[in-house]
Amino acid sequence: MTQNNLRERIASKEIILMDGAMGSELMKHPEYAGNHPSELNINNPEIATAIHRAYVEAGAEMIITNTFDVNPRKYDNYAEIIAAAVKAARAVEASYVGLDIGPLGELFYPMGRLREDEAFECFKAIASEGVKADVDFFMIETMTDENEAKAALRAVREVSDLPVILSGAFNKRGSLFVTGGKPAVLAKIAEEFGADAVGANCSYGPDLLLPIIEEYAGCTSLPIVAKPNAGMPDMTSGKAVYDIGPEDFAGYMQRLVEAGATVIGGCCGTTPEYINALTHIE
Ligand SMILES: [Zn+2]
Repeated sequence: MTQNNLRERIASKEIILMDGAMGSELMKHPEYAGNHPSELNINNPEIATAIHRAYVEAGAEMIITNTFDVNPRKYDNYAEIIAAAVKAARAVEASYVGLDIGPLGELFYPMGRLREDEAFECFKAIASEGVKADVDFFMIETMTDENEAKAALRAVREVSDLPVILSGAFNKRGSLFVTGGKPAVLAKIAEEFGADAVGANCSYGPDLLLPIIEEYAGCTSLPIVAKPNAGMPDMTSGKAVYDIGPEDFAGYMQRLVEAGATVIGGCCGTTPEYINALTHIE
């Protein structure tokens, strides 16, 4: 059953488990070949549901929809995809289902042509579908440009009062991949525009995320999210093999928790086994 106390639970800074990767799990399904990951919510929703279920059974309380690249500039049927994705996640008894919102996949002006007001309208359209589909929270993730992060957060706040998490993707120097913004920049946006938590996802393994989590802890009192990859991918076999196993992942995540992270999960390369290993963290 859906609970509506998520905001209070995040704010209390108790440890809450999120799910792990969707994309790298989808690739393991033979039926997925040739399918677009987001269209799959419509064509093969049972595959998305099976992955959501495995994460919930592993211990995840918060799961996010298979909608990373869904936006009106990319898909005419974005509303249909979002509705199907939420339904696929709701088919599982997760405590909380969140709408996953990724970057729009275009560079912002002046590096590219996308204007902040266009991005805002786009994110607003996405978030509105999340509201219609009755999600429990929003996860704005893998943001590599603080202006895009701000547009996304403002847009969600314009249409919804639900909990929202703002998460960036950082390079090895601890800067957002595209603009070089530091965690403090994202934390300030998160505070100013009403995010419930701020943090980092994807990027690298949990070992390399430690300085970023420490930086967040030093500059904000907001709850901190950590959803790193299973280390670095090795592509020599033709497909990505990540170099940190579930037990080591959990060991590093324990250190991120000690540094201040409270909402924890995994990104690329993580599996239900990784999330299950996190259930021992306290
Ligand atoms: Zn990732």
